[in-house]
Amino acid sequence: MNKVIAIDGPAGSGKGTLAKLLAERLNLVNIDTGAMYRCVALATIDNNVDITDTKKIIEIVNDIKIELTLDGKVFLNDKDVTKDIRSKEVTAIVSPISSIKEVREKMVYLQREIAKGKDVVMEGRDITTVVFPDTKYKFYLDASVEERAKRRYKENLEKGIDMSYQEVYDSIEKRDYNDMHKEVGALMRTDDQIYIDTTNLTVEEEVEIVRKIMEGDKNE
Ligand code: C5P
Repeated sequence: MNKVIAIDGPAGSGKGTLAKLLAERLNLVNIDTGAMYRCVALATIDNNVDITDTKKIIEIVNDIKIELTLDGKVFLNDKDVTKDIRSKEVTAIVSPISSIKEVREKMVYLQREIAKGKDVVMEGRDITTVVFPDTKYKFYLDASVEERAKRRYKENLEKGIDMSYQEVYDSIEKRDYNDMHKEVGALMRTDDQIYIDTTNLTVEEEVEIVRKIMEGDKNE
């Protein structure tokens, strides 16, 4: 079977950074599933569709073309949207949009298709529970809201996204609540995930934890 490292956790917990490094070190394809839901949110905005218009959003998602390149770029219907999907506007609506059952079904289908026949590291909210519940390697990354808001605020500054620290903090809190209370695909902790609190860890230390678990597995 192909190797799947599944990583779930809330916004700013460090999933993206860890996944990127693991992909480089272990020669895996990195799949950022949040970017895919962000594409659906961006397409909703671009088509001037209201977020309460579930029927139209389902139409959009039925027709959507999303491509994730190996060097981390994101294409929506053949357009490079790598930067656009991180905007404040997209971030504000992505969680409610990703609560729509049909949106999730299509994304889960695409995520499994993208991973077919490859060794991957996939990060999101429901990878360990819905997309690849049978994989051996399941991780849940976490950190305090303050720490996550600090990290996201810093990242935003680097990317030129104009949000105050308080706006980032409030947006993360709201998204956490929404993501943990979805009817399908909710972010949750389970007994078979390995829980990593990243608050006081460097990404190198996180990579070491994952690597040791995988090495231990090989020696069994
Ligand atoms: O990971 P990121 O913060 O970019 O994800 C954006 C949003 O997409 C999350 O807040 C969540 O609502 C949604 N998402 C999801 N399931 C995933 C990945 C992301 O519902 N597997």
